[in-house]
Amino acid sequence: MKTRKLTRKSLNELEILMPKLSEIQQKTFVGGGDGSYLSPYTWDEYTCILSNGTWFGGYVEGFGYIDSGTSYGSSSYEDSGSYYDTSGSYGINDSGSYGSGSYGDDNQTKWNNIQPQISSQLAAYGYNISQYSISILDAVGRSHIDSSNNIFLKDSFFNMTVNDQVSVLIHEFTHTDCDKAYDPNFKITILQQDFTFSSTMSNDVFEYYKSINFGSSIEEIVTNLQDAYYGNLSAPQKYLNEIFAYEEEKRLFPNVSEKYRREREGKIYFYQQLYRIAQAGLGY
Ligand SMILES: [Zn+2]
Repeated sequence: MKTRKLTRKSLNELEILMPKLSEIQQKTFVGGGDGSYLSPYTWDEYTCILSNGTWFGGYVEGFGYIDSGTSYGSSSYEDSGSYYDTSGSYGINDSGSYGSGSYGDDNQTKWNNIQPQISSQLAAYGYNISQYSISILDAVGRSHIDSSNNIFLKDSFFNMTVNDQVSVLIHEFTHTDCDKAYDPNFKITILQQDFTFSSTMSNDVFEYYKSINFGSSIEEIVTNLQDAYYGNLSAPQKYLNEIFAYEEEKRLFPNVSEKYRREREGKIYFYQQLYRIAQAGLGY
């Protein structure tokens, strides 16, 4: 992709120009930006996308529209010391740090077969897959990431289309590169009557929850979501991280299956609800 290099110095100058406005707006900011006029990125989100080399233009709080010509490649962003070990640690080695090799062979074999195609698709978006730690598990679920940014791919991942798999990996890479820290032990307690999901949802969101048997009406879906997830509120930042990871998938990789496209909308709705409720629980 074509990018013009913007030096750190000019970035810092930009940052100094507008700190006040950005701070104020971040306090009123709800739910993760997507770079649109009504939902601009925060400065932190913008700099993270820039550092990945995946900035294609968008609105940033306090700055208005910033086009892709002012982005700069990841190679020039080396100040933070947050670079992971790039020793090519994806794939699980035969010593099997998660258990016996015989159990995980199927997924590992599938991964070995599709990995070249996935790697080249990701490379087109600026991602070097060898910079991430990816392990293949034979386990229920799709994917997860641990606190050390190790990405684990599980059974359901290998039932997805290649495009959906690429999108899931962009999601996990966004967590690795852009997540803001929060205390994982932080819990918010609120009354059940205050744990209320919005009944305003798009048709995609409705169809998604209907498809996973949460109900056949909006009212049913909202009630079932509230019942299923009450009592597990974490720090709001956790939900912002999720919203941002899903928005980045959408922005960079719209070309997914209809099923997964709806799921992303459903997840964004879900995490927006948890974010709003968590904020309210903290008195914001
Ligand atoms: Zn996530």
